[in-house]
Amino acid sequence: MNTPGNAPTLDPSDPAGIDAQLSADEKAVRASVRRLCEEHIDPYVADWFERGELADPRGLAKQLGSMGLLGMHLEGYGCAGMSATEYGLACLELEASDSGIRSLMSVQGSLAMFAIWRWGSEEQKQEWLPSMASGEAIGCFGLTEPDAGSDPGSMRTRARRDGHDDSADWILDGRKMWITNGSVADVAVVWANTDEGVRGFVVPTSAAGFSAPLIHHKMSLRASVTSELVLDQVRLPASAMLPEVRGLKGPLSCLNEARFGIVWGSMGAARSSYLTALRYATEREQFGRPIAGFQLTQQKLADMAVEYSKGVLLALHLGRLKDVGTLQPEQVSLGKLNNVREALEICRSARTILGANGISLEYPVIRHMNNLESVLTYEGTVEMHTLVLGQALTGHGAFR
Ligand code: FAD
Repeated sequence: MNTPGNAPTLDPSDPAGIDAQLSADEKAVRASVRRLCEEHIDPYVADWFERGELADPRGLAKQLGSMGLLGMHLEGYGCAGMSATEYGLACLELEASDSGIRSLMSVQGSLAMFAIWRWGSEEQKQEWLPSMASGEAIGCFGLTEPDAGSDPGSMRTRARRDGHDDSADWILDGRKMWITNGSVADVAVVWANTDEGVRGFVVPTSAAGFSAPLIHHKMSLRASVTSELVLDQVRLPASAMLPEVRGLKGPLSCLNEARFGIVWGSMGAARSSYLTALRYATEREQFGRPIAGFQLTQQKLADMAVEYSKGVLLALHLGRLKDVGTLQPEQVSLGKLNNVREALEICRSARTILGANGISLEYPVIRHMNNLESVLTYEGTVEMHTLVLGQALTGHGAFR
């Protein structure tokens, strides 16, 4: 029987009432990022996506920097020193606009800046972190190669000393692939094999022999700069090496930071898609009534609300653990695995509610859905995080 709709009794954007767990400061950070998105990103981002380019990545970086969002959970050197939870909330809001915008921010803060902040020399920190925090300088992070993705230990990029002592220059040769921010970066943190294992290098992109051609033809993360890095006999002073870390622990520690942001960010894309579908369902009529009144539509919306609420609760829980210093990398894997997978499911289901409109960039859903295909793969694929979790649960490694 057709019944008229009444006013909803739950806040659809927070059906489980999770907001009550946030402090006033956390809500204030969230509100300021949401305002930035509403004013400066949301009206334009579908167009950037359609054209396949960020209109003004430098301007955007400066805007994010002026709000203290770049390297926001790091202390000192011009960084805002906010909490992990505040960082997560900012990621959620930015990714509710577009995963590409959150990628710009998290590659800058959690990959490039974190690498220098955690493993760099005092000179490297002084030279780069203040300008990266303000957005004057953009950073990228080069780990993946054409033949080394999930298995970065097989990387071919090589750094060798041009001499026999520790003051000798380094010469870097190799290629990195799928590097976010690459073509607009001022500085690249590049990981390379050396005689002493994997080491990180702080490479000014003005160095002779360095180039960063854009990668075209992407159907995902189109409002994000993605590039190849080519290192052709790039000569760097001895001081360019990150002195405090050796081996894959270096890049993996940075990835762990960025993945934490994805645990939150993916729920932003999910929220945007779910709320779009909910609004559409209440406005779109078929068979003489809003499609929101059909049980099959309500099942989709209820599932979205449940998975969104669970994902945000998980992100918040992991944020609280990170803020007290007990968060383990395997728990970040658990969060990334669940939240990106569920966010993608929410987007796919939302797309069906929009019918044919679901494939149009007039609505954000297909954009989020396509973006999340990248987010599912980068910073460790679903399969890699499954194996990380599998090993943590069983004690057996199944990677090879
Ligand atoms: P592969 O490693 O070749 O994997 C292919 C498939 O095989 C996957 O499904 C994978 O899970 C599976 N697989 C591999 N090994 C196993 C196994 N042992 N068991 C089971 N399944 C397995 N990288 C950077 O360094 N910096 C960046 O800024 C960056 N930005 C990116 C931006 C975008 C838009 C994209 C798409 C990627 C970006 N990446 C970046 C690269 C990303 O991290 C890699 O794509 C990712 O690590 C996977 O590597 P791959 O694509 O080579 O896939």
